[in-house]
Amino acid sequence: MQQQKKPPCPECGSGDVIPVVYGKPTDELVERWRRGEVELGGCCNREKGPVWHCKACGNCWR
Ligand SMILES: [Zn+2]
Repeated sequence: MQQQKKPPCPECGSGDVIPVVYGKPTDELVERWRRGEVELGGCCNREKGPVWHCKACGNCWR
């Protein structure tokens, strides 16, 4: 599976963005979350389904 290219944050323009992952977190996913590589979907509205999270300003978007 090809990895999606990270878009810059539309709010602050930071390139420090991580993908938002939904569903039951696996051990591997939790480990990646601890390393700051992914954001778990719980912090965002799943209905709207943001897929990117900005670590610089906390913005979520898709
Ligand atoms: Zn931002």
